[in-house]
Amino acid sequence: MSDVVSPDALGSAASHVVAPPVPAGAPLVEVRGLRKDYPIGGGFLGRARATVHAVAGVDLTVRTGETLGIVGESGSGKSTLGRCILRLTEPTAGSVSFGGRDVLALSGRDLRAMRREMQIVFQDPYASLNPRMRIGAIVAEGIEIHGLARGAAKRARVHELLEKVGLRPEHYDRYPHEFSGGQRQRVGIARALAVGPRFIVADEPVSALDVSIQAQVLNLLRRLQDEMHLAYLFISHDLRVVAHVSHRVAVMYLGKIVEQAPVAELYRNPRHPYTRALLSAVPVPDPRRRPDRIRLGGDVPSPVNPPTGCAFHPRCPYAEDRCRRDVPPLIEGAEEHAVACHVFPAPPR
Ligand code: ADP
Ligand code: MG
Repeated sequence: MSDVVSPDALGSAASHVVAPPVPAGAPLVEVRGLRKDYPIGGGFLGRARATVHAVAGVDLTVRTGETLGIVGESGSGKSTLGRCILRLTEPTAGSVSFGGRDVLALSGRDLRAMRREMQIVFQDPYASLNPRMRIGAIVAEGIEIHGLARGAAKRARVHELLEKVGLRPEHYDRYPHEFSGGQRQRVGIARALAVGPRFIVADEPVSALDVSIQAQVLNLLRRLQDEMHLAYLFISHDLRVVAHVSHRVAVMYLGKIVEQAPVAELYRNPRHPYTRALLSAVPVPDPRRRPDRIRLGGDVPSPVNPPTGCAFHPRCPYAEDRCRRDVPPLIEGAEEHAVACHVFPAPPR
């Protein structure tokens, strides 16, 4: 019996059975009306429970081979969104499709097969790698679970993956504590790649790393994307980091996307006051191009009782009566630029 279960099971879209191949640039992941509510507190003798509206109605599309960046302050629902798309958390409402297949309807074998297609890289490579497992075993785990290779073929495959992410063969038998933060994140990336995914949720993948190391890991993610035609949902609270890797960027605030555009368009022509506030905090090389500064007052309001109308209105210097009253819908204008703002709508088509 051969060690190799499928001749080119890894990295080849043709071997995936769950969803058909999707041409480059075509929609791969489509999310519609996604919501996640967490009931919290209470529960004692009928005392009212509260609800956290962590994701409050999100529509998005990730195309084959592209990076959609998700940016927003801590608590805006970015991680919950990513986890719901992968079904690491069950959404409360909405739909997720992958290559045209309904992800939320899958169970059993089909769901397991789908997990090969959709992987996650976590923020904290210290917490997400089992300290008692050797690097080789950590990277090989998915290959074993999905029965992709055994014995020498499995070992060769892991060596190949380590090389791909810039680690060396002799790292195979080492433990996570013997590595730097950047190297550990490379292990986390190799683990995600091991099963041959087409889509990766990268949740703050460089936020725990020294700034000097961040660019190396971001460049690695970009190179792997090109080589393997990967689609990324790239989550970060740091707009600079998101801009470095993303083709398009979606800005989240209190569980909703408030603005979305191709990265150059978003920088050239930010519309939503929240986006402009985030950009104001980013050093701009040419001071003539600095957008009007908006300083963010106060904290992100609670997603338990979000403000009426536009959730950003209590912090917005431009808020009008209608902003306190009516929820602004996300409307797309020219340049694939969508904005949810009464005062600064998307550029006209
Ligand atoms: P982000 O990744 O943007 O920081 P999260 O998705 O982690 O945001 O959280 C969004 C909101 O949902 C926050 O208010 C957070 O406290 C809440 N939340 C996240 N996970 C849970 C949970 N398991 N139970 C209750 N509330 C949660
Ligand atoms: Mg998060």
